[in-house]
Amino acid sequence: MFDALYLEKPEGGFSASRRRLTDDELVAATPDADVTLRIEYSTLNYKDALALTNRSPVVRRWPMVPGIDGAGVVESSASPAFAPGDRVILNGWGVGETHWGCLAQRARLKADWLVAMPDGLDARRAMAIGTAGYTAMLCVMALERRGVSPADGEILVTGAAGGVGSVAIALLARLGHRVVASTGRAAEADYLRALGAAEVIDRATLSAPGKPLQKERWAGVVDAVGSHTLANACAQTKYRGTVAACGLAQGMDFPASVAPFILRGVTLVGVDSVMCPLAERREAWARLAHELDPALLERITTVVGLDDALRLAPQMLAGKVRGRVAVDVNR
Ligand code: NDP
Repeated sequence: MFDALYLEKPEGGFSASRRRLTDDELVAATPDADVTLRIEYSTLNYKDALALTNRSPVVRRWPMVPGIDGAGVVESSASPAFAPGDRVILNGWGVGETHWGCLAQRARLKADWLVAMPDGLDARRAMAIGTAGYTAMLCVMALERRGVSPADGEILVTGAAGGVGSVAIALLARLGHRVVASTGRAAEADYLRALGAAEVIDRATLSAPGKPLQKERWAGVVDAVGSHTLANACAQTKYRGTVAACGLAQGMDFPASVAPFILRGVTLVGVDSVMCPLAERREAWARLAHELDPALLERITTVVGLDDALRLAPQMLAGKVRGRVAVDVNR
């Protein structure tokens, strides 16, 4: 038996609870899996919060064990790629959406989805980073691929006090960029500066409808917010600058014009962590192991138990959770 969070839709309703499940139930729910993991840590991401509250249709199979991220030890493997005792990380691939996930003490997953734990990380630190931090690194890599360098000018990070934003600031500042953090929480200015932000701006300056072309300011943008914020960020991006879009905390809409793209050669890069190819994941995780200051990571991380994850989910959707939440599934 093992503990897990469990989402059900009994007779059109919805319930999220902590349950004791059997290994037989897990095997029956995951017939196509070839690796069994003892999960040590999972995380609470924005998408997990949506699943735990049933606020948007993240879960597409019922009942579901949520948890899009997991880190732990291989117990058994039918794949030659992994052996018992190996330490691994799982992010995305529909886990916690269509396949039973990692907010549980045990999970059965596909070997093709797993990344070997890089040197320099353990389960706790990997899950302090989680999908949010790994996505922040994918955004940084997207800017680099377009040639954005510290000499080009400032980088805007939106949704700054959230998980993606916090890690993005720490990574970009360490790489030598001048980072400007956009937040709705003025009280978190000191926190954002401690992560490496050179300047903190009020997100209200970006969140309302704006002109198609505005004063050029950003060499690059990491946007976790979408909607008018993303449109304004594009309109303020410098000639040939790059905007990496990964989130929708303000909204999924994109009320913009083509002006920044056709008149300033701005590039808008979409960043997806869920189906990202393994080679890019491995690169992102190897870099995260060495380019994220462990002391800063600790500072942005709150570690909670499985029950707390349920309690925190609505707060995360209300934008009240700061930084990252790692979940100790044995708590
Ligand atoms: P968090 O909840 O930790 O952070 C989101 C932040 O967005 C908040 O902290 C807040 O920052 C800001 N925010 C919240 N509501 C609004 C609003 N109405 N208008 C403007 N800003 C707002 O989430 P994550 O950092 O984990 O994820 C951020 C986004 O990225 C989410 O939309 C998530 O779904 C997406 N995501 C996408 C991935 C991908 O693969 N593309 C992977 C991971 C995440 P502040 O208080 O500083 O203003």
